[in-house]
Amino acid sequence: MKFAVLATVSAHLPLVALACADHPPRYIYPRQAPSSSEGSTLSPSSSAPAPSTSSDSALGSSSVDDATATGNATSVTQISVSLISTNPTAVPLSLITAQQVSSATVPLPSTATPGVTPSAIPNAPSLPDISGLSSANYPAMDKPPPTNSTEVQQWIQEVQNSGFSIPNISVTVESAACSANPDAVADTSRCWWTCSGCTRDTDIVACPDTLHWGLTYDDGPAFYTPNLLQYLDEHQLKTTFFTIGSRILEFPDTLQTEYMGGHQIGVHTWSHPPLTTLTNEEIIAEFGWTKKITKDILGVTPNTFRPPFGDIDDRVRTIALAMGLKPVIWTRLSTTVTFDTGDFNINAGTISSSQVIENFNEIIGNATSIDTGFIVLEHDLFEQTVELATGYILPQALAHQPAFNITPVISCLNMPMANAYIETNDNSTNPPPSGSLTSGGAASTGSGSSSSSAATPTALPSLLPAQALIVSCIVGALLGVSSLML
Ligand SMILES: [Zn+2]
Repeated sequence: MKFAVLATVSAHLPLVALACADHPPRYIYPRQAPSSSEGSTLSPSSSAPAPSTSSDSALGSSSVDDATATGNATSVTQISVSLISTNPTAVPLSLITAQQVSSATVPLPSTATPGVTPSAIPNAPSLPDISGLSSANYPAMDKPPPTNSTEVQQWIQEVQNSGFSIPNISVTVESAACSANPDAVADTSRCWWTCSGCTRDTDIVACPDTLHWGLTYDDGPAFYTPNLLQYLDEHQLKTTFFTIGSRILEFPDTLQTEYMGGHQIGVHTWSHPPLTTLTNEEIIAEFGWTKKITKDILGVTPNTFRPPFGDIDDRVRTIALAMGLKPVIWTRLSTTVTFDTGDFNINAGTISSSQVIENFNEIIGNATSIDTGFIVLEHDLFEQTVELATGYILPQALAHQPAFNITPVISCLNMPMANAYIETNDNSTNPPPSGSLTSGGAASTGSGSSSSSAATPTALPSLLPAQALIVSCIVGALLGVSSLML
């Protein structure tokens, strides 16, 4: 029923505003296709179904604010931002708006040939021939897959046989909004990242080494992903793409090009729901179908996933680990200091492109002050987000001194690309999850504190002492607790 409600909301409102006491307003809205694509080898289709939600930004309440919901680019103002490098081919910031006329996409930088293997993964199986790929063999796009299919029933059985004990944690309601789930927020034992920032040791939230950026893009493949791939190729950059199963079905060639180009692929669910709102079986279906379509097209299965909206608790974690998936979130220093560019909201007209650049400048400032590397939330779903990435964010990052080491997440963990997939991981340095959440390497405190053990390199990054004190006080005041481990 909740899915029907979401679908109805997204179908009849151009924008749904979400507000929460401990999060800035966030928005969900239908995915939009470019209105024109002259010169494109792709065929943008306005008939493609829209996900009920797509931004990964942290969730707020589900209350609909019609005044805010009518937000458009004329209501956001461009601000003055400091740029240390400019890309001469960048689209002017003033033109990167919700109302901009779509520009052409570029052809994929290369097309993959069936039977080849990626140079970055010597032991990879041959790339499948996807000429016979049929949507009839997969669930409907952008809808939660049914759980009574033969495939999902098998995956449920495999989870039951995995040795993991799934915690008896209730589902959240109203799109996992913090304000709508006070009991869940108060139950710190569930380690619900969305509303507390709680992490477990199995969560990857940063890179171990300072100045190392685990580059990620979510929600693709999409119409403008080839433009991003072109820029990445030109600058010898590799990234991690957290891809949606429904988008993979729509753009299978793009996924193969990403993979063959040396980029890392991670799971981002089939229909992009807030996972804590789903039943165990529904979560298994979301993961299972995305794993399956990725393997059908690449021949390998990712062993990482990013929860949509970062919405993860111990129940979601355990199910994911039981299916061989380790969570990758984005770096978060406090409830108000997150490494989220906010780029997704440009398309909705609720944030200006220059504000996103300002957000990124602040992220860079924080990134150079912490004792670990970092992971930033960005998207390749929209033209605006790709134009900001290629025209501003990446040029800024490449010109930064001291230099950032920009790599896929698996590389920032100092592992070979082969370790990113179940079939090619030799398990020597990246053993697959096993046992229970506690015995499988996650924090054993179970206390639901706002951070995990600091003993692991991927634990929540720490600020330098003076900054940590300030942030700790702020966060403590916000959460009403006397002390926090940062
Ligand atoms: Zn997403």
